[in-house]
Amino acid sequence: MLQTCGLLLLWAVCLSGQETPLARATHVVVIGYDGLSPRGMREGSTPTFDGLLQTGASTMTARAVMPTSSSSNWGSMIMGVGPEQHGITSNDWQPDKFTIAPVTPGPAGFSETMFSVLRRARPTAHIAVFHDWKDFGRLVEPGVPNHISHELGPRNTMRKAAEYFRQHRPHLLFVHLDHVDAAGHRAGWHTPVYREAVELADQLTADLLKAVDEAGVLPQTAFLLTSDHGGIGTSHGGETMDELLIPWLVSGPGIARGRQLQRPVNTYDTACTALMLLGVAPPETWICHPVREALAP
Ligand SMILES: [Zn+2]
Repeated sequence: MLQTCGLLLLWAVCLSGQETPLARATHVVVIGYDGLSPRGMREGSTPTFDGLLQTGASTMTARAVMPTSSSSNWGSMIMGVGPEQHGITSNDWQPDKFTIAPVTPGPAGFSETMFSVLRRARPTAHIAVFHDWKDFGRLVEPGVPNHISHELGPRNTMRKAAEYFRQHRPHLLFVHLDHVDAAGHRAGWHTPVYREAVELADQLTADLLKAVDEAGVLPQTAFLLTSDHGGIGTSHGGETMDELLIPWLVSGPGIARGRQLQRPVNTYDTACTALMLLGVAPPETWICHPVREALAP
């Protein structure tokens, strides 16, 4: 940071260009609900989401990246860059099958994830990933998380994640739930079936909060809730605001209570923000920004 370069003590920071942020939380839990739109998050009975909105900082106008496909957006969320950089332009992408090469290949040959950045910064960090959509797994560098597993169904996925948290108290836990998107494709976004799926997502989120509380680290844990894209009719992937807008919510230690974020947030800012909360600077090659506006003074 240029403005800090006058201080000799920050000389090393000037050289690297990346200031190590002050850690706000010892544990960060990121929950991604596939296909959850901002409107969906506020429909139906969602007491857990309502509570986290009151205790945290949020925006209902965060943006996905184009195309509004799942892989492109899950990739951006954990890789801190857009499709122009990571090259994940559709769900057909595979680590060894792509047309756009990554700008800066990480250790696995594709764009580095926040899991890998955390592992490098803190080799002993405990990292766990539970995903309900099988293809999410290919976006994560093999061998980097302490645990990564594909679970079947939302209840099973969250139950396994909650059990794991109680037992291991990971520093970074990522949970992917797929059923809201499935309901949108099956019955349509914002239909009663979709709302039911959102209500289940809310209940499962409460289960994880309870597990973190039972693990004795709730006051030190930040929760970041978001999604990969919205939807319209029974699909997504196109160019409408209904598909592009996503909810983005962070709550926990050092986070402003009840703040509605005014500055634009993009899905790739999730990676930068999760790392910031853990006190880790993002790589200079990333384009994301940590959402500092969410921090309490
Ligand atoms: Zn999706």
